[in-house]
Amino acid sequence: MMEPGHKGVSAAGRAGNTVRDLRRGSRSAVLRRLYFDGPLSRQELGSLTGLSAGSVSNVTGELLADGLVEECGSVGSDGGRPRTMLRVAPGRARLVGVDVGETQVRVALFDLARTELAAADQPLSDRGRDVGRVAELILAGLADVLDRTGTAAEQVLGVGIGVPGIVEQGAPGTDGPHVVVHSQTLGWDAVPLGRLLRAGTDLPLFVDNGAKTLGQAEMWFGAGRGARHAVVALLGSGVGACVIADGARFRGATSSAGEWGHTKVHVGGRRCRCGARGCLEAYVGAGALVERWGTVASCRGEKSGLAALLAAAEAGDPGAVGLLDEAAEYLGAGIADLVNLFNPERIVIGGWAGLLLGPRLLPGIRAAAGEYALRFPWEHTLIVLGTLGPEAVTLGAATLPLSDFLDSGGQARAGAQLTDTTA
Ligand SMILES: [Zn+2]
Repeated sequence: MMEPGHKGVSAAGRAGNTVRDLRRGSRSAVLRRLYFDGPLSRQELGSLTGLSAGSVSNVTGELLADGLVEECGSVGSDGGRPRTMLRVAPGRARLVGVDVGETQVRVALFDLARTELAAADQPLSDRGRDVGRVAELILAGLADVLDRTGTAAEQVLGVGIGVPGIVEQGAPGTDGPHVVVHSQTLGWDAVPLGRLLRAGTDLPLFVDNGAKTLGQAEMWFGAGRGARHAVVALLGSGVGACVIADGARFRGATSSAGEWGHTKVHVGGRRCRCGARGCLEAYVGAGALVERWGTVASCRGEKSGLAALLAAAEAGDPGAVGLLDEAAEYLGAGIADLVNLFNPERIVIGGWAGLLLGPRLLPGIRAAAGEYALRFPWEHTLIVLGTLGPEAVTLGAATLPLSDFLDSGGQARAGAQLTDTTA
């Protein structure tokens, strides 16, 4: 993931020498600027992309003809002709984002302006252990949101899927993308999710770790915007993180970087669902907190269990207060480790559990992080809550096909295959 607007003409110039590469690079640069900073005039596009006035005119002419960009009024310029403003046409194409959580599968359909047009929430009874069932729910949810909105498959740029595991990306194959998912906590051992989904849809598929999709959403549109060094922490049933180093997502050798939930905060401590002892997730994950709060609450499900724990703490129940104070300290220690290891300028706490508990825990988290982190990097780190809400993983998943669309200059599917819905 790059900073919005980063990929442009120079990247294309380096990578390829052909006219076609240059043209795609120019289209991508213009489309990205319009997407993230629009509406913009042609003059503004020229200065922001470094393209000549002639190139901007050619590229915007093409994008207008393809229906990907539209005019949206004009603004007066000092003494000159009014400048026509351009933006990406929100209704030109649609995106699907899927959040495979441990308690439900959520499928949402968005327009290009990220307005949610429809969503399908389907509960998972076995925490997602049966991957065949997960694939069925994704496909059923996809059919449901397309059907309810009268969306033809040709209008959809792709389906992005955030999963609670380590995602190994392979080369695209004829039987679907060779995406394999490993999740030690769910018992997914090299699960061929791409192939399972390909059996039920021809749409382009993009799969990534849920914390990484949340990270991309918060970096592009939420609390991470403008930061080049950041960590977006996902607190849900489990705990994960997306590390952004110098504007790009840090993946590691096999894409598993950012498994922050399984860093050790207590040698010989509580048994984690991954099998090891003393992981952060075993102390601050929603599943662990609800389990420790008591079986009565856990019967009603994790979300209501955590809400009950929070309500009890707000009412002064000493057991609940103690549990959440301890969770804040563990989170602060975990964040101190992130500060010491990655020197981020910003740490964003998101995920449904993070946003639910954040307002209460934040002062304690900050106090503990300040105590455990090295002073100099800590003084340059902000800890904030995510701003995209508890369903940001779904939006983040939708950014996967969106990213592909912007990289290709709108030609991934738009040029040849997108049905013109405006006609
Ligand atoms: Zn663990």
